[in-house]
Amino acid sequence: MTANTERDAFGRLPEELRIKIIKLSPDPLSLRNLAHASPAMGRVLDRYALEIVEVVLDVTVPVQTRRLMGAVLKALFSRFPASLSEAQKVAKTDSTVATDEMRSSGLDRAAAAVRSLLATAENVHAWSHACLEHLVRKSMELRPSTLIEKGPGRTSREQFENAESRKDYLPQYTGPPSWVEEQRMIKSFWRLQFFLELQGASNKGRLGTCWPRQEVEALSKSSPDGFYDMFNFEREQTLTACDFFGAVTSGAITLVAAVHDNAYRLPTIRWIEGAVPRCSCAEPPSFERNKDNFFQGPENLDANQMSYHFQRFMSNCDQYEDAGPVLLAFPFQPWRKYGFAIWDGKRMADLGMRDPKGKSFLRNRMKYSFRWFSILTEEDLRDLP
Ligand SMILES: [Zn+2]
Repeated sequence: MTANTERDAFGRLPEELRIKIIKLSPDPLSLRNLAHASPAMGRVLDRYALEIVEVVLDVTVPVQTRRLMGAVLKALFSRFPASLSEAQKVAKTDSTVATDEMRSSGLDRAAAAVRSLLATAENVHAWSHACLEHLVRKSMELRPSTLIEKGPGRTSREQFENAESRKDYLPQYTGPPSWVEEQRMIKSFWRLQFFLELQGASNKGRLGTCWPRQEVEALSKSSPDGFYDMFNFEREQTLTACDFFGAVTSGAITLVAAVHDNAYRLPTIRWIEGAVPRCSCAEPPSFERNKDNFFQGPENLDANQMSYHFQRFMSNCDQYEDAGPVLLAFPFQPWRKYGFAIWDGKRMADLGMRDPKGKSFLRNRMKYSFRWFSILTEEDLRDLP
């Protein structure tokens, strides 16, 4: 007993203080690590599991991700959204992490569910970092061209295809993912996680009691990007996660390996030796009013993402009064594989894909539309309308 207490300094503190300390965990991962590293803290977590996880998530996790995590936690208590449409809106509907029913279900069950949620959070976080690492590497391979003069042609596409240009821009490394980039990725992987869990529950017949049969069928035919009630830019972010997930599980990406233990959740991810990135989680930044030129502040997390906005703008002729239509009716898809649905303005500027000066992502839009166009591969162009 004495030896244990000596090794676990937290064991010498009164329980009230331990509860206060564990509730100050800066994120779900630290909470899990603290409970692992110190048996005394682990006991506190097990005893007050729901209360502690609720406080930590409320303070440290952005709202939509928190709701998705809450939905995964509820699923661990076999509580699912009451209908398909409720499930589709789960990230956008106000909810608490724990319910009274969960609180009255017994300490052991709550402790096991919270431990399982935290293990899932660690895996979702690992998937997010692996995907970001892959996208950063991929985007650094880009070799965009600079427009010198548009060429002859009837359409903008022809003018761009025949343009005189120079391959003179080398992407600059921005550094590890910013807070908003990481949080976009984490949210996308939680969408994937909850969707898989829901499909798993459905397959085991656990939704059948409350959902009509056609809703259960609709779920089984859905994909994560088509399932949720979300904006198109959010769909592109979800697809970025889905693309990576598909490429890892099919073996097309070998940066990491996925260990499948259950088809209805994200597989456990493991870094291949030599590929392990530095662990660097960004803190949420704060900016003076109107100084967030690159849209990196927390208020941009759930807002329209600027690269998506730029792509819509250059693909929509109505919006080009002075410059004329630029890239007609191209979908976002070919740019998704470089992480453009996730990146903030700083990384886009360093990649040479937006003007580095000023807040407007439309500054010098002709020049940057051409840069975007110049990185399309032959394959991309062949598949485009
Ligand atoms: Zn991180």
